[in-house]
Amino acid sequence: MPGKATVKERGAPVGLDIVGVSASYGRLRALNPIDVTVKPGGLALIVGPNGAGKSTLLRTLAGLTQKSQGDVILGQRNLSRMSAPRRAQQGLVLIPEGRGTLPGLTVEENLLLGARLGGAPLDWDTISRYLPRLRERSWQNCASLSGGEMQMLAIARAIAARARILLLDEPSRGLAPLVVGEVYRALKSLNEDGLGMILVEQKSVPLWRAPDETIVLAAGRVIHRAAAARVDEAMLAELYLAGARSS
Ligand code: ATP
Repeated sequence: MPGKATVKERGAPVGLDIVGVSASYGRLRALNPIDVTVKPGGLALIVGPNGAGKSTLLRTLAGLTQKSQGDVILGQRNLSRMSAPRRAQQGLVLIPEGRGTLPGLTVEENLLLGARLGGAPLDWDTISRYLPRLRERSWQNCASLSGGEMQMLAIARAIAARARILLLDEPSRGLAPLVVGEVYRALKSLNEDGLGMILVEQKSVPLWRAPDETIVLAAGRVIHRAAAARVDEAMLAELYLAGARSS
């Protein structure tokens, strides 16, 4: 029976303002200045082909790229000079591509690391509200989880860390459509309960609601923005082709 506690009880939803954020690896400019606004409880979708700079954007927001500029404002607080752990403690939590769970640790040990970051005891009730089947696996080594379960664990760890905005790097990657449906159902409930999200995917995928904004990135630049609309596959193919011709 899923617990009744929800992320709503953790405070009013907050927004995220990304202003002129850019990043480089040595001399390679991987991301040109970008602005994105996630309103409280909102959803922004970022799509783009390989090497577009999607992961770089999320990693930069999380404080994990060495050379970056611009402002990252969570609620009223500017996080741009904070270290990665401090940004996560403020509630800006990255769920990286490859999930970032620690093999060798059990499900619960992974969650305890999240809870320690969030500065609160592990709250299984709230996790089970969104991911009802994870608790059965609490003593399992997370290396033995399926890809879908691993993704659920990564989301659960962000809940344990008391995330206020989730940065999701291709959560559907490598998962069968049925499993993607299950992952998205958990994200839907969290988003409906006020957790804001930036969702990165390679393709424009059907989501639980229209994003407030869809941004198409290619070669480190924004090549298209659409408010509250789904960018369909045909349009994406055209945009990528145009991007490839002009680069
Ligand atoms: P994918 O969908 O393949 O994950 P992406 O859109 O997330 O692609 P990034 O991983 O952000 O793209 O990469 C953007 C650019 O930065 C690419 O040219 C990539 O080769 C380069 N890059 C990424 N990480 C590093 C790194 N650690 N060191 C040097 N260059 C990097």
